[in-house]
Amino acid sequence: MNYKTLIGLEIHVELSTNSKMFCGCKNEFGSAPNTNVCPICLGHPGALPVMNKKALEYAIMAGLSFNCNIRNSFKMDRKKYFYPDLTKGYQITQQDMPLCENGYIEVHTKDGIKKIGLIRIHIEEDTGKSIHNEEGNTLLDYNRAGVPLIEIVSEPEMSNADEAKEFLENLKETLKFIGISDVKMEQGSLRCDVNINVIDEDSNFKTRITEVKNLNSFKAVYKAINYEEKRHLEMLENKDEGFKETRRWDDASNSTVVMRRKEEGSDYRFSVEGDIPVTIVEDEFIEEIKNNLPELPSQLMKRFIKEYNISEYDADILSRNKYLSKYFEIVTKEVKDPQLVSNWLLSDVLRRVNEAEIEFEEIKMESKNFAKLLNLIKNKDINNNTGKKVLRKLFEDNFDPEEYVKEKGLIQVNDDSVLEKIVDEVLANNQESINDYKNGKDRALGFLVGQCMKASKGKGNPQKFNEMILKKLVR
Ligand SMILES: [Zn+2]
Repeated sequence: MNYKTLIGLEIHVELSTNSKMFCGCKNEFGSAPNTNVCPICLGHPGALPVMNKKALEYAIMAGLSFNCNIRNSFKMDRKKYFYPDLTKGYQITQQDMPLCENGYIEVHTKDGIKKIGLIRIHIEEDTGKSIHNEEGNTLLDYNRAGVPLIEIVSEPEMSNADEAKEFLENLKETLKFIGISDVKMEQGSLRCDVNINVIDEDSNFKTRITEVKNLNSFKAVYKAINYEEKRHLEMLENKDEGFKETRRWDDASNSTVVMRRKEEGSDYRFSVEGDIPVTIVEDEFIEEIKNNLPELPSQLMKRFIKEYNISEYDADILSRNKYLSKYFEIVTKEVKDPQLVSNWLLSDVLRRVNEAEIEFEEIKMESKNFAKLLNLIKNKDINNNTGKKVLRKLFEDNFDPEEYVKEKGLIQVNDDSVLEKIVDEVLANNQESINDYKNGKDRALGFLVGQCMKASKGKGNPQKFNEMILKKLVR
């Protein structure tokens, strides 16, 4: 059977404006419940919403960064449904006139770069939040009601969990780069729903679309897609088209669980939001926003390759994170060896970041101290091994590595006469290894260098040891 998996994503992103979408209330996470509210965001009768220009600007920034067309005029709509966290009984959103359309996001696949289409990016307001406490009561916090959101809807063009993961990473990093959201999934600033089904390409038989809602980490998205793909494939094999349904990811059982089944067609009734006039978006306004956009990851990657002469692989990883890319450029200015900086950042530093399970911007090691460490290595004041040991400490505590290596006596010994004495001693005590080497066992050389390093308490110059031993042991 020739089958294909179709995955589309819907992402809600809270914009980090100072005030809410249609009123002057503070847009702030973590305030005491119901302290950032007013008649407008509480939906009192007669209260009139006014569009937040900054939110509109942020939404256009997102549209331009994801290669969308920006609409020159639009209206807002009311999406009517009843839910306790929605005091008005409707949510202000955009139905048939989304602000941004027809964009794309690039992902790397084993067959090269793939463009995933974006159907639309529209603006809307967030709803309040229900909190279920231990006594079995439901409490309502309306601080989030009216917070500006954009909803980004992709074409169902991703075909596996890896592509979806890369799509989300690219999207998240780009939003961070342009600075319109803090994209913190754990705080709900970035929320993702997955739409998935499977099609038999020979017979055109396909399963009905499942929507997995409210995924709160990239890991959950990844697992949910893999789980659903398998479930849909089994249905496909049984010629069972299944139900159009909404499910949620359950971490405890490592599976998705049905939330509700839906009828075909929309669950919602819409009408025009008559309290907000049609908004005109002038070309000059869009142009100005475009000119003020920061360098995006894809542009940054190209510049890194050209300016620093590093590989596409290195440039790609360095340019994906705003803070990492900045850090790289600052350190490179001090060290003047982009490849050395890239090597250490991408291997040792990123590994420690991953192990500590933190974001790159949270690292304690200041760029100036990291630069000092790399210069010590570059100038052969310390050897690589010592460098790695110092880095491990520097990553935890952030200190001046120049003072540290002096204090701890870690400066590399490069003095030939000192090194030669050590080599002679080691050779005198390891006749067996010398014989091994002369009999063609190259590994013996490594052993002898190791013995010299040990004798020098790790401070000898390993390359010089290597050369000296070779010279003395001509086969
Ligand atoms: Zn308000």
